Amino acid sequence: MSTDRGAGAVPGAGSSGGSGSTVPGLEGARERRVLTGGVELCVAELGDPGRPTVVLVHGYPDSKEVWSEVAARLAKRFHVVLYDVRGHGGSTAPDPLRGGFTLEKLTDDFLAVADAVSPDRPVHLVGHDWGSVQAWEFATVARTEGRIASFTSMSGPSLDHMGHWIKRRAAHPTPRRVGQLLGQGAKSWYIYVLHTPVLPELAWYGPLGRQWPKILRRAERLSGTAYPTASLPQDAAHGAWLYRDNVRARLRRPRTDAHAHVPVQLITPTDDAFLSERLYDDLEQWAPGLVRHTLPAKHWVPRTRPDQLVSWIGDFVTAHESGGPPERTAESSTVTAPTGPYAQRFGGQLVLVTGAASGIGRATAFAFAEAGARIVAVDLDGEGAARTAELARLTGAPKAWAETVDVGDGKAMEKLAEKVATEYGIVDVLVNNAGIGLSGPFLDTTTEDWKKVLDVNLWGVIHGCRVFGRQMAERGQGGHIVNTASAAAYQPSKALPAYSTSKAAVLMLSECLRAELAGKGIGVSAICPGFVNTNITSTARFTGVSAAEQERRRKKTSRLYGLRNYPPEKVADAVLRAVVRNQAVIPVTPEARGARFLSRFAPGALRAIARVEPPL
Ligand code: NAD
Repeated sequence: MSTDRGAGAVPGAGSSGGSGSTVPGLEGARERRVLTGGVELCVAELGDPGRPTVVLVHGYPDSKEVWSEVAARLAKRFHVVLYDVRGHGGSTAPDPLRGGFTLEKLTDDFLAVADAVSPDRPVHLVGHDWGSVQAWEFATVARTEGRIASFTSMSGPSLDHMGHWIKRRAAHPTPRRVGQLLGQGAKSWYIYVLHTPVLPELAWYGPLGRQWPKILRRAERLSGTAYPTASLPQDAAHGAWLYRDNVRARLRRPRTDAHAHVPVQLITPTDDAFLSERLYDDLEQWAPGLVRHTLPAKHWVPRTRPDQLVSWIGDFVTAHESGGPPERTAESSTVTAPTGPYAQRFGGQLVLVTGAASGIGRATAFAFAEAGARIVAVDLDGEGAARTAELARLTGAPKAWAETVDVGDGKAMEKLAEKVATEYGIVDVLVNNAGIGLSGPFLDTTTEDWKKVLDVNLWGVIHGCRVFGRQMAERGQGGHIVNTASAAAYQPSKALPAYSTSKAAVLMLSECLRAELAGKGIGVSAICPGFVNTNITSTARFTGVSAAEQERRRKKTSRLYGLRNYPPEKVADAVLRAVVRNQAVIPVTPEARGARFLSRFAPGALRAIARVEPPL
C-alpha cells in the first residue's frame, strides 16, 4: 500500500517519518510513503515514470542518499526509484528490531515498493553492499518472478552463494583455497563485531558515528559534506540487525536453489577492503550469462565512480528492457557485450590515443577497441586517424572518433580537450603516444631540430597530461595516463642525444605526475619500448647528413627494425596491462628490459655501449 505525498513536492514535505533530503542530486525528488509489514518506507522518485524503472537499493551503513550522484545521472534516461531500507533514513524501524530485518521481510518491502512505483512493468534492480546482498535474495526467490527485469550487483554477494563458497573450500582445502578463506575471513572482521550485542550501537551513537564522515573521506577520498546524512548513527545501529538476523543462519544453511531468474551484471571494485574478488569465482553457476565488469576503486563506488556505474547500468538496463529501449543519449554507449581479455575492465570507457594513425598508437587504439572501449584517435595525419577510428569500430569499439591535432600545439590541445569533454565525455584512459624520431650527433643538432623533437615528444605529452589530466582530476572519479617514453629514456647513446633527452624527460614527468595524481585515484605509467617495427624509422630525421644519405639511413634502419620484427601489438598489450596493474615504468621488449636492468645495476656497462657507433 502506498500513500503519495504530493508529486513534485519538496522531499519530506508533510511526511511523518521522512526527513527531506538536501543532498545534491535528490532535491526535487518526488517522495512517497509505502506501508509494508508494519513499517513505513520512505521512497523517492526521479525522472519520467513512463520510462523503464530502475530501483536503487542502498547498503550498510547508508541511506538512499548514497545513490544521489548515480540517481541524478540515471534520471536523464530512466524512472529512478530509491528507498530507505526499513530502519534507515526516513523509513520507520520494525518493532522489535530483532527478527525485523530478515531477508524475507526485506523482500516484502521490495515488492511493496515495486508494486507502488511500477505496478505494470518489471523493474531493473541495482544494489550496493547490503543493498546488493538483499537484491540477490530478490533475484533468486520464486515470488519475485516477473517483477524484476535485470539486476546489477556491486560489492554485496548473495549470502547463499557465499555459504556454498565457504563450504566448498572448507570441504576440499588446498593451500590456495585456504588462503582464499583466510583472506575473506580477515576482510570480514567487522561482521564478527556487528554480531556482538550493544557494542556496535554504543560505538555508532558515540565516537564512531561522529568520526565516520572523516573516516570515509580519508579512506575512500570522498569529497563534499552532504553525504553521509545526519541519520547515520541510527541507520548504522538499526542496520546491525541486517547482519544479526541473516548472516549466521544463511551461511550455515545456504539455499541450494539460489539461482538468479533474471539477467545479472556484476561490478567488482578491485580495491574493496571488505570483499575479496575471489568470492565471485563460481558465480556463473548461479547466474548463467553473467556480465562482469571490474573497476579500479574502493568499496563506495556509488560515491566515487558514478559516471562509470551509470554507463554500465544504463547499457544493461537498455539491453534487457522488454518494454522498448529508452531514448539514447550522447553518452550512452553500446548494448553489445565487448570481447577480449580486458573487456571486463575497459568496456564502455573513453580512451584517447595520440599518434593513433600508425604503429604503436594504432595498435593501442585497436586493443582498447577490442576490449569494448570508446576510442578517440588523435593524430596530425587526419586521414590515418580516421582510418584508425573506422577500423576500431570494426574491431569492437562501440564508438570511435578521429581528431586531427598537432600535439605540440598547446592551444590546439586545449581546444581538443574542450571538444572531447563536451561531445564524448571525460577521458578514462589517456595514451600520450605521438612521437617522432631524430638521430645524429649533438654537435650536428640545430636549435630547430631540438625544437621539433621536444615539441612533439615532450610538449605533446605535457599538453596531454595538462589538459586531460586536469579534467580527470576535476571529475574526481579516477582514470589513467599512459605516456610513451622509450628504452632511450634510460639508455644513453651518442646517436640519439635529442630523442633520448625528450624520452628521459617523459619518463621523469610520468614518475612525478604519478606521485601527484595518486591521491586522486589516477594512475600514470611510462611505457618504454625498445626496437619496434613501425613507420617511425621511415619518418625519423637524421641530422648533419645530406637528403640522399638521410634516405639511405632511413632504409637501413627500417630494414634492421624489420629484421628485429617486434610487433606494435605487443606494446599495445603492455599498455593495457600497465593500466590494469597500475604499473609505473614498463620496459617492453627484451632489449628494453635488459637496458633497464643495466641502468640500475651496471650503469657503467650502459655508458660503454653508449659510445658504440650505430650500425648505419
Ligand atoms: P609511428 O611513426 O608509426 O607513429 C607515430 C604517429 O605519431 C604517427 O601517426 C604520426 O603521424 C604521429 N605524430 C607525429 N607527430 C605528431 C604530432 N605533432 N601531433 C600528432 N601526431 C603526431 O611511430 P611509433 O613507433 O608507433 O611511435 C609511437 C611512439 O612510440 C613514439 O612516441 C615513439 O617515440 C615511441 N617509441 C617507438 C619505438 C619504436 O621502435 N618504434 C621505440 C620506443 C619508443
